[in-house]
Amino acid sequence: MLTRISNQRRPTAVFAGILLFALLFTACASPEPDKPPQNGEAAVTLETLPEHDGAPYVVLNGNVPAFSEGERTATAVEEYSPLDDLGRCGPAYANLCPELMPTEEREAIGSVKPTGWQTVRYDDLISDKYLYNRCHLIGYQLAGENANKQNLITGTRYLNVEGMLPFENQVADYIEETGNHVLYRVTPCFTGEELVARGVQMEALSVEDNGAGVAFNVYCYNVQPGITIDYATGDSWVAGEEPPELNGGTPSYILNTNSKKFHRPDCANVASIKPQNRDTTGESRTDLLARGYSPCGACKP
Ligand SMILES: [Zn+2]
Repeated sequence: MLTRISNQRRPTAVFAGILLFALLFTACASPEPDKPPQNGEAAVTLETLPEHDGAPYVVLNGNVPAFSEGERTATAVEEYSPLDDLGRCGPAYANLCPELMPTEEREAIGSVKPTGWQTVRYDDLISDKYLYNRCHLIGYQLAGENANKQNLITGTRYLNVEGMLPFENQVADYIEETGNHVLYRVTPCFTGEELVARGVQMEALSVEDNGAGVAFNVYCYNVQPGITIDYATGDSWVAGEEPPELNGGTPSYILNTNSKKFHRPDCANVASIKPQNRDTTGESRTDLLARGYSPCGACKP
């Protein structure tokens, strides 16, 4: 079944969205595998996706990616989907090769606010503290796309590091070693109108050796162990504790990342913060002061 959740705060709908793990991901096209799974492999598809169960990813369709014969060329390609009506990313697609790989250091990407983005930290539960990363669909090391809004989603630290990075590294290593092409597609999977993806499908196929070097089709879960996420909004809380929805779900503070001031969400000055400088955070006052932020003089947070 498909759980539809509007952006408006309706606690019952939010709870339904959390409790019911939707098995149907309308944003993900179902790939047609070239061949059926072998050796009794579980024939997991996006439609039969199991709930997250300790592993950062599951293999889809017997690990066979859905690239056609016609796509297997030695031509560099890089395509990003236009954002949808809600501002969400769609599939990112490339035929990767050495010429697409970056030669410059990464620049800051803090100006991009993917849908559902919140700055929130759990110091005791996440070694890098912050729950969300601006998560590249096609990793920077593969195509050099950095502050591209069509290539960045709100992803957990766990998705980024445990789920996606090992596959990205495999592809990058292969291209660096061989100079060959790799067809590559990363599809964020949203349920209904949720703003945070439930996960991403990653497909890759090395071209010149017809998949002997790299071939995979996996789904990586956008979860964080020990944290419960409301995918409709990006709100989060410690698993097993009360959701913050009881206080209206409003973030603790609004930041001006340029002036380094923090405000109460209802402060009149918030409206005049430029969008690229505005951020919402669940961080505590103490943490913000430690990060060099100072309280707004008007709303005195
Ligand atoms: Zn203020």
